[in-house]
Amino acid sequence: MDKTNLTASGLWAELSEGIKSSINEQTFATWFEPIRAVGLEETALTLEVPSKFYYEWIDKHYREMLLSKIKSATGKDIKVRYSVLIGEPDNGAHPRELDITPAGPLTEDFYDSGSRLNKRYTFSSFVEGSNNQLAKAASISVADSPGQTSFNPLLIYGGVGLGKTHLLQAIGNKVMFQTPQPRVHYTTSEKFTLDFITAIQNNNSSSFSERYRNVDVLLVDDIQFLQKKEQTQEQFFHTFNDLYQRGKQVILTTDKHPRELYGLKDRLLSRFQSGLIVDIQAPNLETRIAILQKKAEDDNLEIPYEITELIATNVRGNIREMEGALIKLLAYSSLSHSDITIQLAKRALRETLGRSGTKTVSIDEVIQSVSETLDVPEKKLIGRGRKMEVATARQVAMYLSREIVGASLENIGLHFGGRDHTTVIHACRAVKRKMGDKTDFHRKVDGIRSQLEF
Ligand code: ADP
Ligand code: MG
Repeated sequence: MDKTNLTASGLWAELSEGIKSSINEQTFATWFEPIRAVGLEETALTLEVPSKFYYEWIDKHYREMLLSKIKSATGKDIKVRYSVLIGEPDNGAHPRELDITPAGPLTEDFYDSGSRLNKRYTFSSFVEGSNNQLAKAASISVADSPGQTSFNPLLIYGGVGLGKTHLLQAIGNKVMFQTPQPRVHYTTSEKFTLDFITAIQNNNSSSFSERYRNVDVLLVDDIQFLQKKEQTQEQFFHTFNDLYQRGKQVILTTDKHPRELYGLKDRLLSRFQSGLIVDIQAPNLETRIAILQKKAEDDNLEIPYEITELIATNVRGNIREMEGALIKLLAYSSLSHSDITIQLAKRALRETLGRSGTKTVSIDEVIQSVSETLDVPEKKLIGRGRKMEVATARQVAMYLSREIVGASLENIGLHFGGRDHTTVIHACRAVKRKMGDKTDFHRKVDGIRSQLEF
């Protein structure tokens, strides 16, 4: 293929093929199908996406994949730029566009490339709760006087997605902000290991030492991955001692208390224990709600309280997962150009929590739910009464029994006072017809449905 005459859409078509084969269908349909390629220059491909969240999601999850596919399709290092649609594309008005140029290959802008810090993670974006108060306070004092407190090393431990990386990076960002010539380096224990191995292979330990010892503040995330890696631990021990003796600050995180980390050398353990060890626990409901509201506020989003509450109530142990549900909700809402509603939130939650949309529901549950929502006693629903509200509610219950429960016509008939299957067919048709009008009725039925399916 002649790459010199490549158009944006031509390139995008080619990339789409490749992407399709690397991810699952659903993911492709959600995130890639709605994209249009609107510009191609020497160094940048511009993709039009429906919203900012959309861009954030793609950039966060698929950046590497996109860049490598572009590279193999064109042989060039072409960056991706995004333009975001603002306003309704379908009501005729040409969408206004907002250009975003994200980081180039490997997080250049996003991270400060020397320190590897992500500027989003700050103390002010970190919501304090009883679960993380101590960890946050210790982190702030270390950031204010690195190497000067007895909190050296400071070790923060806690479960997945509870904010360890956020705090660690917030320390780094604060130091960067308030020090004239800050030398801060953030790494993970995996990267540390990799750098160490590479240094040995290339016989180049000086660049390794330079990176890890020429700093004032060293932040090492997830040191549980040092377990059983004896040589790396040894190296880490020396790096640590060297920094410590020169009054430099070290901050570490792990997923458990260090005494529960097996396969760590004793002398390393006792080093860790010579400073301060603080934990982060799972946040309570109020804190979870506050975190969601803070995210919404930081991103200028209007999210009704009941929705933050719904998400916070259902996603308990992991803030990252909670954010995932929020992002998904925003993506759905911008994809379908619909408002953020409780129903949409439930759908996003179901997907986040990995529940299938078709949870097993019984006919009795349908009856119960219809009865509550449409305010018709259960007895009347399954009875013979022909009053309009009752008859309509009964039809809805039959329809949902068919749609959600997937029960046979006969079985449904039996549950509703031994009615004939033709009555059930008639009911289902009647409900469908009424729903076609997109009225209040439609919303109500959908409401019951999503309640039942959640
Ligand atoms: P960990 O490193 O413990 O697995 P992270 O630091 O990556 O967790 O946190 C997961 C997500 O939750 C991040 O996006 C982070 O910003 C967010 N988060 C965690 N705790 C808080 C908090 N107290 N306030 C605001 N956001 C938080
Ligand atoms: Mg982390």
